[in-house]
Amino acid sequence: MSINKSVDFSLVNIGLLVTNDAELGEGPLGLIENAALSVVNGKIAWVGNSSSVDKSLPTVEAYGKCVIPGFVDSHSHLIFAGDRSTEFAARMAGVPYSAGGIKVTTAATRSATADQLKVNAARLIAEMQESGTTTIEIKSGYGLDVVTEERSVKVAAELTSEVTYLGAHVIAPEYSSEPDTYVDLVCGEMLQACQPHSKWIDVFCDRGAFTVEQTRKILKAGISAGLKPRVHLNQLEQGEGIQMAVELDCASADHLTFLTDQDIALLANSQTVAGLVPACDFSTRSAQYPRARDLLDAGAAVALSPDCNPGSSYTTNMPFSIALAVREMHMTVDEALYAATKGGAKALRRSDVGQLSVGSNADFVLLNAPTYVHFAYRPGVPLISKTWKDGNVVFTKGASS
Ligand SMILES: [Zn+2]
Repeated sequence: MSINKSVDFSLVNIGLLVTNDAELGEGPLGLIENAALSVVNGKIAWVGNSSSVDKSLPTVEAYGKCVIPGFVDSHSHLIFAGDRSTEFAARMAGVPYSAGGIKVTTAATRSATADQLKVNAARLIAEMQESGTTTIEIKSGYGLDVVTEERSVKVAAELTSEVTYLGAHVIAPEYSSEPDTYVDLVCGEMLQACQPHSKWIDVFCDRGAFTVEQTRKILKAGISAGLKPRVHLNQLEQGEGIQMAVELDCASADHLTFLTDQDIALLANSQTVAGLVPACDFSTRSAQYPRARDLLDAGAAVALSPDCNPGSSYTTNMPFSIALAVREMHMTVDEALYAATKGGAKALRRSDVGQLSVGSNADFVLLNAPTYVHFAYRPGVPLISKTWKDGNVVFTKGASS
């Protein structure tokens, strides 16, 4: 969260502006050519044609390049210690991914101090800003005991307002023979310790993690304590959790690598956003990617996230996720950009980010490209020139940091 007071200014000579507000411009992305925008008190105060901009404010030049809303990353696991590059190399050499590798990170995270956890997360947030992300949800979930889960959500709360309690990431190693006792801990003492620092509750509902019934119990306990639900589903196999996610009005159901036609229909008729994380499918060499095309055609809302975590997707990079969404999930570039911005905002139930309407947070990104299409057309190329959050510059290409 930025606490610096922003300076009011106008960004002028924007070749192509994505507003994500269909009333401001063309199509669902609300595109405006030769555009400008004004920032007052960290909010968007005006959007329109460059020739009509308020000349009384200081101006910043966009040199005819493209400007987009800051990316909204609705799914990240940034509170951890350690490194699992050895496991990754083994997996690429043929060892299959399973949810159990989390234990390695749990051991490292339990022995890390709050300062160490915060420094590591801040490093990853700087990477995110460098690749255009301005709103970040952060989960706990590598402590798996009361003390470390509480430490994790406290650290996360110093870095974002979107904090998720994920004590139910996997069964803690010391409870492997009595999983229901661990579920009781997650719903009881651990929830009480984490709730004051959290906004969301999440569960990893999948093979090797939690069953649908355990997940329902945990999410309901969180809802009773005042947290809002979101859930990991169907990453490793086809499960039965979508009905539950929709019934509990989860803000998002994430992963969804395996979906039935009925699951897609349920999501399309709900307020639950399909949070797709193709970088995870990529990094785990998953047998398939989620059926994004079918979800969109059915009318479901879709969000994209890199799912940054040290085990299955150690990337913070949203442009890479856009390239994968287009190449591997058959989303159009426009759909992928929308999912990475407005889709993420919907997954966090936020209307003040993910778009550049009057009154929105002044979170936006200047590209070193004429169009956002370059995210998919030029994969792997760093295209971000400058990132603003709440009207403050948080990244400038080439500036020392
Ligand atoms: Zn995750």
